[in-house]
Amino acid sequence: MQALTNRVKQVNRSPMNFWERLYLPAILKGMTITFSHIFKKKPTINYPEEKRPFSPVFRGLHVLNRDEEGRERCTACGLCAVACPAEAITMESAERKPGETDLYREEKYAARYEINMLRCIFCGLCEEACPKDAIYLSETFTPADFTRKKFIYSKEDLLIPNPLTEAEKLAEAKGETV
Ligand code: SF4
Ligand code: SF4
Repeated sequence: MQALTNRVKQVNRSPMNFWERLYLPAILKGMTITFSHIFKKKPTINYPEEKRPFSPVFRGLHVLNRDEEGRERCTACGLCAVACPAEAITMESAERKPGETDLYREEKYAARYEINMLRCIFCGLCEEACPKDAIYLSETFTPADFTRKKFIYSKEDLLIPNPLTEAEKLAEAKGETV
């Protein structure tokens, strides 16, 4: 019969000899391999107590940024949503009211901002498209969960803590406290 690939391997179906029927040599060979690994350096790590260092280009969970006065930077221009190849970003814009200048940096802001983390491929194009430095991908993993709904991250989930009113939470989010 003609082979489809050159990876075909002929199986040896000749009857087992005396030593093969004893199985002891095969068991000893297996144990030698096992013991030879006992004193080698373990490649596994005790996650989550131990973590591997991130690559300098690692892209993790998104963060919606604030400016130094704690105001939301996002102006709901939609460029991140347009740039997103996975169509993972949804938003609704709203006009800033006169008394809200300390909440939102620009005249328009995102009243609703959602990212579907099950769609996201963590490419970072949203971060690159943003003209306001309002979104970036942090070094945090998206935590595991049991339902699809929990992976739709709302603006409240994504917003970085306010540096003026939530300094402790901000330090925790940046990994500066334990
Ligand atoms: S990282 Fe990529 S896929 Fe994820 S939301 Fe941003 S642009 Fe979309
Ligand atoms: S995150 Fe940036 S690109 Fe996306 S809507 Fe806000 S300002 Fe525009």
